[in-house]
Amino acid sequence: MSQIDAYTATLTESRAPKILKKADNYDMKKSRYSKMTTCALAGIEGVPIEIELCLMAGLPAFDLGGNCDSTVKESRDRVRAAISNSFYVFPKGKVLASYSPAAFPKSGTAFDLALALSVLEASGQITRPRGAPEIAAFGELSLDGRVNTIPGILNRLLTLEKAGIRKVIGPPCEFDCSKYLSNCTYYVVSNLTEAVEIYSGIVPAKKVIAKRQIDLQSIDKHKKSNSASVLNRLAGQEAGIRAITIAAAGWHPLLLMGAPGCGKTSLAAAVAEILPPLSDEETLEVLLVEQIADVATHRKKPQERPFRRPHHTITASALLGGGVPPKLGECTLAHCGVLFLDELTEVKPKALDVLREPMELREIHLARSSWRITYPADFLLIAACNPCRCGERLEADGDCRCSEYSVERHLDRISGPLYDRFDLVSQLNRVKAPTLEASLQQNNESRAVKIKASVESAWERQKKRCERLGTEFYFNSLIPAEELLSFMQMNEDCLKFISELAAKMCFSFRSFHSVLRVARTIADLRSADVVTEEDLALALDYRLALPSIMSERSDIA
Ligand SMILES: [Zn+2]
Repeated sequence: MSQIDAYTATLTESRAPKILKKADNYDMKKSRYSKMTTCALAGIEGVPIEIELCLMAGLPAFDLGGNCDSTVKESRDRVRAAISNSFYVFPKGKVLASYSPAAFPKSGTAFDLALALSVLEASGQITRPRGAPEIAAFGELSLDGRVNTIPGILNRLLTLEKAGIRKVIGPPCEFDCSKYLSNCTYYVVSNLTEAVEIYSGIVPAKKVIAKRQIDLQSIDKHKKSNSASVLNRLAGQEAGIRAITIAAAGWHPLLLMGAPGCGKTSLAAAVAEILPPLSDEETLEVLLVEQIADVATHRKKPQERPFRRPHHTITASALLGGGVPPKLGECTLAHCGVLFLDELTEVKPKALDVLREPMELREIHLARSSWRITYPADFLLIAACNPCRCGERLEADGDCRCSEYSVERHLDRISGPLYDRFDLVSQLNRVKAPTLEASLQQNNESRAVKIKASVESAWERQKKRCERLGTEFYFNSLIPAEELLSFMQMNEDCLKFISELAAKMCFSFRSFHSVLRVARTIADLRSADVVTEEDLALALDYRLALPSIMSERSDIA
């Protein structure tokens, strides 16, 4: 044995037992490590995130790992301040937190509360009672320890419940979230101390849930007067009312074209009124969208369909959604409701072109940096535009002096592929004074009820037909091309009639299919199973090729 080996042997003998003894006393799992579940957002859905935290010897440092962006890294100072200001001790040495799954990019302030609780647990200042179920937490911390609200509370709660968590601590929500949860309890806290008390079971956890008080009576009153005013403004505009009824009954995209003052905007507002209320499933979807939206949607009832009317200067990313991380746009805010684009020819062509994808897929896929997000976007597009620069082209006694070239340029702003996606194009004229007078005397209130009932029964028929054919539910506008014939139920003569017409008018495949779909809705509105030639002829009326508007003027002359 060499001298060095002998020295090492004596050293191991004399010191090793001491070190071992120290490590025995030192329960690594209990006091230096902690694990906590929280929740991030990806679109309208949540992603459970696990925060692992470890206290290590070394120079004082506080590091966050696992694909955290700068907004998450800012939380280090907030958590440190909130812990000190709530009279707990921030541990000395190196603090390392790791967020997983690391492949998912993390952003925002929602993880503050979970991170603070992890620090306190790892440093042995709090412990979860033995046998207590796993607790998840989310919420933003103020420097003084208050817990601030964050977007998407309900979205996160539903995700955590699905992941098997039974207790969640978080900030107050503006409405009663608990009625959407069946197996999970949400504990609302206003500061870090309260969160600690609930986490460690010091106080018997009591559910405190903020409820938004809604004065239902006043809303009903407001609603009634509002709907009456929309209908009065529509008096006499029969062609327009017919078009919006078909659009609402079959969820068909509609383009209203007419002179200023012919009632295009009122017609669009009326669509939202005549659509049946949201189903329970849709109500939740719309609520989840509103939870993560930056803007107030001003819906007065949970079942009210969204109606979005962005200004025509809107950009493509405000319409579709964008940024890093990708935020939702107007298309998603209009999910299950109406997206109204006024002055369609004034909207930037780039912004209009992005509409084609959501109109087809009913959702929006955004890829920005390492983010891949899908937002729902099943909206009914209603657009309005003037037929020419001055707007008078379709009026018989109008004074349009626009040249053919300027009309062409005006309408050219709507690209062919987008124009093709409008199942209905309705050309409107101003209501003449005598018609207006006669129609004002009609009872518009009962008329609205009738229109609403016919739309509702058309929806019912579509649902039953899908059940009968054993397919998932589609509105008529969304029937897949390969299944169109089985949905149409028309005879040979009808098929021949429409095929010949399509050949004569040089229809694209998409236009041909959209005529069939509109004819199906027209038949549904008169409660018929079989589509007739008349239905097809009516549907063709709404399928005008753009150049026809240019010859319109010479027809009138
Ligand atoms: Zn003109």
